Amino acid sequence: EINQPLGAILGNAETAEFLLAGDDPPLDELRQILADIRRDDLRASQVIKRVRALVGKREFRMEAQFLNEILTDVIRLISHDSQRRGVVVESDFAMNLPAVSCDRAQVEQVILNLLLNAMDAVKAVPPSRRRVSLRSGRHVSGWVEASVSDNGHGIVPEKLDRIFDSFFSTKEQGMGLGLALARSIAESHGGRLTAENNPGGGATFRLILPIHDGPRGHETE
Ligand code: ADP
Repeated sequence: EINQPLGAILGNAETAEFLLAGDDPPLDELRQILADIRRDDLRASQVIKRVRALVGKREFRMEAQFLNEILTDVIRLISHDSQRRGVVVESDFAMNLPAVSCDRAQVEQVILNLLLNAMDAVKAVPPSRRRVSLRSGRHVSGWVEASVSDNGHGIVPEKLDRIFDSFFSTKEQGMGLGLALARSIAESHGGRLTAENNPGGGATFRLILPIHDGPRGHETE
C-alpha cells in the first residue's frame, strides 16, 4: 500500500538530483519538488497509521462467534456517528444462525467500514429518504453472511472491479484503503467480500464467512 508514495518520492529525488547537476538549477521547480516529497511522505505515514489502526498489532484470534452479536456491537459503536449524520441504520438479523470462526475485532472493523461507506453514499439523499441497512442471514453456499445495503449513489458499473484496489477512491478526502483491507480480512478468514448495485439504486456489500466447525452450536435467541 505504501509503494505508490514511496515510488513518487524516489522519482522526485532523482529529478531533483538531475536538476541540481545543471549549471543554473531552477530553484522554484526544486522547491515544488521538495513540497511534493513532503506531501508523499506524509501520505505514506498516514497509510501506515491507518493500516495499524485497522489491523492492529494484535495476534489474529480465531474463535467461534455469533455474527448477530458482532453486528449489534457495531451498531452500538456507530450510533453516535449515524445520529450526527442523520442516518438511521436499520437492522434485520436472521435467528438461529450457526457460529462463524473469526477474529471478532477484525470482523467488527470490516462491518464498521462498510457502514461508514454506506453513510457516505447516502449523503446527497434527503434525510427522510436515507436508508442504510445491516442484515445477517445464510448465504446460498450454506455459509453465514452480513450485508450492508444503502440507497445512495451506487457504484459506477465500470468501477465495480476497481473499488477493492488499494488507493481507489472517488471521495475528495478518501484514502481508498478501507475496502482493500476489508477484503483482505475476509480472505484471511477463508471468506469473501462482494459488492453489487441494487436494482432500485444504491449498493450492497456482503461479507460471507465459513461456519465454525465444532461445538458452540446455534444461537438460541
Ligand atoms: P474510501 O472510503 O477512502 O474512498 P474505500 O476503499 O472504503 O475507500 O472505498 C473505495 C471506493 O469504493 C469509494 O471511494 C467509493 O467510490 C466506492 N464505494 C465504497 N462503498 C460504497 C457504497 N456504499 N456506495 C457507492 N460506492 C461505494
